[in-house]
Amino acid sequence: MDAGTATPRTDDLVTGALLQPGDRVVDLPKAHLHLHFTGSMRISTLRELAAQKGLRLPSALVDDWPPVLRATDERGWFRFQRLYDAARACVTTETDMRRIVREAAQDDAAEGSRWLEIQVDPTSYAPHVGGITPALEIVLDEARRASAEEGIGVAVVVAASRTRHPYDARALARLAAQHAGDGPGTVVGFGLSNDERRGDTAEFAKAFSIARRAGLASVPHAGELLGPRHVADALDALAPDRLGHGVRASEDPELLAEVVRRGIALEVCPGSNVALGVYSALDQVPLRALLDAGATVALGADDPLLFGSRLADQYVAARDVHGLDAAALGDLARASFAASRAPREVVEAAERDIVAWVAAG
Ligand SMILES: [Zn+2]
Repeated sequence: MDAGTATPRTDDLVTGALLQPGDRVVDLPKAHLHLHFTGSMRISTLRELAAQKGLRLPSALVDDWPPVLRATDERGWFRFQRLYDAARACVTTETDMRRIVREAAQDDAAEGSRWLEIQVDPTSYAPHVGGITPALEIVLDEARRASAEEGIGVAVVVAASRTRHPYDARALARLAAQHAGDGPGTVVGFGLSNDERRGDTAEFAKAFSIARRAGLASVPHAGELLGPRHVADALDALAPDRLGHGVRASEDPELLAEVVRRGIALEVCPGSNVALGVYSALDQVPLRALLDAGATVALGADDPLLFGSRLADQYVAARDVHGLDAAALGDLARASFAASRAPREVVEAAERDIVAWVAAG
């Protein structure tokens, strides 16, 4: 595709076809702050694991991939969740878990990501490896190894689920706190994920305060399926440093101004938003409005396994759909590092290379 002249169709991003070979957006240094463990999996890896274990995958993960989803109603979310569960069911061993972390690091590095904060709820894998502590330690150990070998720093966000009891979230926060750090192979943040319509945000405040006391970034999902009021709830109860998505803050200018005033970064995932029906098309994602309001935006892929698009695709969308030029893309990349927990030397090296990338563009 001729950059800047053609507007990709919405379904191009949904099928992961935005990024063309040789696109220099790959060379732009990026930090990736919104990627889920299971959702990061290559579709080829999932199919291989399923075959190994004799598990049948839903057709949406075999012939009709990537699936067409509409998660804005409960039924649509249920379908999304069912596909997610089917994928998770194929991850049953330490070897599988290590492979997911390793391939996420490789795929991210291949797209110019220098720093990845991968999000995992260890509860989901605990039964296979002897508990939440070993589940998290496996992920951290592989993150450490991949960081040494793949040309990218990989850190971990431990995410609690809104569908489980807030006590479970506190247990996870304490576990995350024990592994808190500020480099590759450590826990750098604490999140809250799953269906935004479930659970009471305020009930998770204690878990987030445990995480915050340990120096972890507060990075809950909010403002994706639900609107500004839910973003306000997260601001009140969870003292977020970043919001997973947060795009719906754009519907309330005062609230958005408050997000900007507090320096809360937004992990914006355009491909995910369109795939889940939060917006009908890429040009409806309010990227420009958020940037114009002064928000710090870090683009993310969320769940490439289900949405078909990866990190670089999001930057291509920002350029080709929203018309961001090289300087504005450079600013976006810079913002992704500013919102990250990447070590200073990683940020400084990225900054130098971003300046060079923009100058060459
Ligand atoms: Zn997410």
